Amino acid sequence: MFLAHASGEHAPAPRLGTFGRGFVQAMTSREHPPRHLERRWATRYSFRAELEIEWGSAVLRGKTRDIGSNGMFIESADTLWVGAGFTARLALGRPVGCPGELTAVPVIYGASFMTRCLDCGSERTTDQCPSCGLTTAAAELMFRRRLMRQTGIFLLGSLAFPYISQIYPPLDLDLILVFFGLVFFGALTLAVILERRARNHQEIELLKRVYNGFVPLPWILAATLFVNGRLDSQKNVVYYPTVVVGRFNMKGIVKGSRRLVVRSWREGQRVERLAVDMDDFDRFHEGDAIVVGVGPGALGIPWYYGAYRR
Ligand SMILES: [Zn+2]
Repeated sequence: MFLAHASGEHAPAPRLGTFGRGFVQAMTSREHPPRHLERRWATRYSFRAELEIEWGSAVLRGKTRDIGSNGMFIESADTLWVGAGFTARLALGRPVGCPGELTAVPVIYGASFMTRCLDCGSERTTDQCPSCGLTTAAAELMFRRRLMRQTGIFLLGSLAFPYISQIYPPLDLDLILVFFGLVFFGALTLAVILERRARNHQEIELLKRVYNGFVPLPWILAATLFVNGRLDSQKNVVYYPTVVVGRFNMKGIVKGSRRLVVRSWREGQRVERLAVDMDDFDRFHEGDAIVVGVGPGALGIPWYYGAYRR
């Protein structure tokens, strides 16, 4: 909670709902402000009304406590930064808008508040970040732009990954796609939470770092699989005799998600689901005896090289 004493000596003649230069005072107790603070103020009148404080894109709620010729006293569970420009709306039957500015350090009683710059993550106690020089509103804008850009990079990679992964398809492609699906939904959930927390001016440093790690992941995974097959020599390809036991075509998920199911040659594995191209898919049928070429992979990820009739 903080107590904002809006208006001050430079303020024009007080008018209900108008904040001039305001400041926030340290209060030792919620209900009993220290005496020395009170002396500075003109006679105040008890005035209780609900208040909405617009700060950036956040809307904080508070209550007025009293009003005097110097301004108005506000209680809120949320905090504003020193120098934070804000607009307050009073619930007085019809809303009264009033711009204000905080010019002293808020004292925080609640635990949930932002102590870091949204943009660069530096600790700060004033509206303007000491590191990057951005104000709260500017930092929020910068953060949003970067979040959009990062999410764009992530989505593009997520679209590209299923295609790139089929150029040199790993034997365990389906497993990798399941993992990738989890990464995809995890990252998008994180982006939504980040956006929401930023809008509410809550702490986001840790989440920001986790999200930064997610962003290049589709590209890294795609590049890994591509390099793994690309740098593998044809000399290394090993051929395994096997039998086709099934085929299926996953329509609609990713174009060309065709699987030829064959009896596995790997220990502890019953079948292999080969990511074949359209030709191989149409060429083979259940019961066909075939030979499957498998590359060991330049990065150690075995991949499907091709299938031939025995
Ligand atoms: Zn900053």
